[in-house]
Amino acid sequence: MSLLSTPAIVLGGIRLGEADRLVTFFTANHGKLKGVAKGARRMKNRFGASLEPFTHCKLILFEKGGDKLGRINQCDIAHSFQSLREDWNSIERASRMVDLITQLTPDGEVNQDIFALLLQGLSLLEEKKDPALSMMLFINRLIIYCGYQPRWDACMKCHLVFKGGTETALYFSPSAGGTFCAQCRNHSGALIPMSQATRAFLDALQKMDYVKSHRLRPSLAMQKECAVIFKNTLSYITGKSTQRFAKTPAPPLESVS
Ligand SMILES: [Zn+2]
Repeated sequence: MSLLSTPAIVLGGIRLGEADRLVTFFTANHGKLKGVAKGARRMKNRFGASLEPFTHCKLILFEKGGDKLGRINQCDIAHSFQSLREDWNSIERASRMVDLITQLTPDGEVNQDIFALLLQGLSLLEEKKDPALSMMLFINRLIIYCGYQPRWDACMKCHLVFKGGTETALYFSPSAGGTFCAQCRNHSGALIPMSQATRAFLDALQKMDYVKSHRLRPSLAMQKECAVIFKNTLSYITGKSTQRFAKTPAPPLESVS
């Protein structure tokens, strides 16, 4: 049995047995991991509010080795993110952040970038400046940190460099991980139409610091196009393929709902 100590963020938890709780964390030093909080559901328990979702804490856990679940020894709150649990919109957005990380990260794989991103993402949501934009920027960055880096600067097939303004019709392919010009749109996978402005915005985002990217002010139309692109990219990454992403050649989509 070894002792593990790490900064962590609570992703969620479920009841376990009569009085315990099984809690999932994303940690800075050990990636995603689960631990049992003994007696956490008793009226009097030593964990207090430290195991509430979104809590940034310092976790001390006894590892038991093999497939056995570790036991949470101590969880000290660094920042509770209490305000995110006080209104429905914040709960919904913060829950989406932790759910995406739960889905997209394998257990035990260390990724300090994703840990920092989640902490920054929750902090920016808490500031309530532009929560919808914060959410979109978080998803964009998470996709990149998961190792999926779409190519926005040139056509995937003919390598035409998009300089802006000249190419009006562009298409994004989640399965190819990049953009196609109108002449090369006969790609075998499904294609999502996108505007030049959205392509340029996503290209700029990829090269920009996450917090600084909150200064950008994409139009509502661009945000809508990004939402469709991210939704389909996440479906592709998590393997939740629909007929839209069938391997058999299908006519390119002109519009995606
Ligand atoms: Zn092309």
